[in-house]
Amino acid sequence: MTFHATSIAHSKAMKTKILWLQGLTCNGNTHAFLNYTLMERFLEDFTFVHHPAVESDYTLEEVCSRYIETDILIIEGAIAEDFERAGYPLIEVIKRYAPKVSAIVTAGTCATFGGIFKESPYPQSSGFLFCEDKRVTRFEAFEKKVISVSGCPVHPDLLVETLYMIREEMQISLDDYRRPKAFFAWNIHNGCTRNEYFEYKVDNHRFGEKEGCMFYDHGCQGPYTHGSCNKILWNGVNSKTRSGEPCHGCTEPAFPRRNFYSTKKNMGIPQYLPFDVPRRAYLTLSGVTKAFKIARLEKRLFDA
Ligand code: SF4
Repeated sequence: MTFHATSIAHSKAMKTKILWLQGLTCNGNTHAFLNYTLMERFLEDFTFVHHPAVESDYTLEEVCSRYIETDILIIEGAIAEDFERAGYPLIEVIKRYAPKVSAIVTAGTCATFGGIFKESPYPQSSGFLFCEDKRVTRFEAFEKKVISVSGCPVHPDLLVETLYMIREEMQISLDDYRRPKAFFAWNIHNGCTRNEYFEYKVDNHRFGEKEGCMFYDHGCQGPYTHGSCNKILWNGVNSKTRSGEPCHGCTEPAFPRRNFYSTKKNMGIPQYLPFDVPRRAYLTLSGVTKAFKIARLEKRLFDA
């Protein structure tokens, strides 16, 4: 599956126009985006028709009441049937812009899959196109324009790089949830500094510890969560697992249903195994690795 915007770059000298609309949201994706480290450079190439927190060309009332020329529509937050912005039903506003824009980007897991709001009593809160593994058909007409950048919150670098790929009219390879494969073909385990501890089944004991893997006892979902957090670090500095916090699986459709801080097990075996690892292969491997006691990995790296 690929995405290819063809009518966006009228001229490389022109700024690409973005309209950022919010559904049900905690503003987390806006906050994450505002932490993008090269924002000044970004604003040389992009301009906001409207953004809830960035200086914009038009007010919310103006963009909701009529159509204003826009290249990319970004949606943050879950979409509920009767949700309004500036007194206008959000769904109707989206339907007005969707046929005319070159791309629709869902920023974050609420916009993509419903996220935390799909658990709420708010009627029919769901993602823009997907809710769990079921398609929400009301926006199917615009599906081919959608690129999903899931995450709770969205990783600012992944969002900005996706916007640049659209601006540059690149052919973008997408996964089944229309997420750019450039960032979502991997899992969070890929690039984690704790891989050696994972291999030898050495768990950590306290959050924030530098040593140990958090898969066996502390609920780390890195081996079955798509994303690039350990390859493209947050603010160029860190990731959850590097800082000693388990991955919560926030880019996936099922988020946030699983327990964040403990590993569900059956007879000592984690209920969810890494992607594509057969249970039998896992049992064989873990039986072998358990037989080793690697003193270097059992020790603290630094004096307590
Ligand atoms: S902490 Fe999580 S991501 Fe890191 S090695 Fe362990 S399971 Fe993988």
